Amino acid sequence: MDPLDTLGRPLHDLRISVTDRCNFRCVYCMPKEVFGKDFQFLPRAEILTFEEIERLVRIFVGLGVRKIRLTGGEPLVRRDLERLVEKLARLGDLDLTLTTNGSLLAQKAQALATAGLRRVTVSLDSLDDATFKSMNDVDFPVAKVLAGIEAAQAAGLAPIKINMVTKRGVNEASILPMARYFKGTGMTLRFIEFMDVGSTNGWRLDDVVPAREIVASIDRELPLEPVGPSYRGEVAARYRYKDGSGEIGVISSVTQPFCADCTRARLSADGSLYTCLFATEGLDLRTLVRSEASDAEIIERLAAAWRARTDRYSEVRSSETAGLRKIEMSFIGG
Ligand code: SAM
Ligand code: SF4
Ligand code: SF4
Repeated sequence: MDPLDTLGRPLHDLRISVTDRCNFRCVYCMPKEVFGKDFQFLPRAEILTFEEIERLVRIFVGLGVRKIRLTGGEPLVRRDLERLVEKLARLGDLDLTLTTNGSLLAQKAQALATAGLRRVTVSLDSLDDATFKSMNDVDFPVAKVLAGIEAAQAAGLAPIKINMVTKRGVNEASILPMARYFKGTGMTLRFIEFMDVGSTNGWRLDDVVPAREIVASIDRELPLEPVGPSYRGEVAARYRYKDGSGEIGVISSVTQPFCADCTRARLSADGSLYTCLFATEGLDLRTLVRSEASDAEIIERLAAAWRARTDRYSEVRSSETAGLRKIEMSFIGG
């Protein structure tokens, strides 16, 4: 059994938010009305340094973590991110990956690959510029994100996954064009149900396009069949095109929760550990790292936090839990 196995949920997967800042203002994540010009992002001194992140990751790897995903905010706005990638890549045979909005990927892909990043996930909510803008609230051409995806492919950061959040009445019409575009490219398009993360995005159940509806609409034009999960705890349900031209995934955390298999922890940019995406409180690892605490003491604290974990938010979601003051998505990175 893994050293950290709570209710059959070992700690395998760590997401690290390297910044709380972003150059986009997605309506489902950092709405402009809240994250406007006056918003106080974390001061630099409160953000973990690359050396502090490296130390913590070494500890997590010792506890069984094998998958590390860098995220944010937008991870590529953190200066010299490739220096962190280089440090983490030296820590073992890790599935080292990154989720990005793709805006800076064309410039960064090669340096990231050289530093040891294995692959990337790129978020893209539409191929149509006007719809894309209505989701991310900035003027950014889709073509630049597509150029970033191409650069990532050329740099060998594959297999690439594409994340598309679907919001009722905003980008539903983009579902089929996106499926057609990515079918047969070797990239896996994953549809994510709009979630009630944080407390600023005005989430309503009516805004969610259920995963089963997405699968059914694609299947009508491009026949699909289900595929079993490739590993325990895989969050996306997989479907393959019957003509053999690839797969899609759906992440149905609202309509079909998967808490029983959740093996993931999240480290925020300011060094707090969250054992659930919908947590209201984290464990302050930064204070520990900046104290005289030994690795053994840090291990003890975080093992205790993981063992005490009873998270199953998605299974108990209700109109009441949706209103809790939860941590923001841009803070813990999805
Ligand atoms: N900025 C990067 C990006 O957008 O890929 C990384 C951070 S972002 C918080 C990570 C993922 O969370 C993205 O794929 C984004 O689409 C998704 N996301 C953000 N808010 C969401 C929400 N309310 N519901 C579902 N997915 C969300
Ligand atoms: Fe930025 Fe990513 Fe959140 Fe969009 S989803 S606002 S790109 S952090
Ligand atoms: Fe894991 Fe929490 Fe999501 Fe459930 S709601 S799958 S426990 S992060």
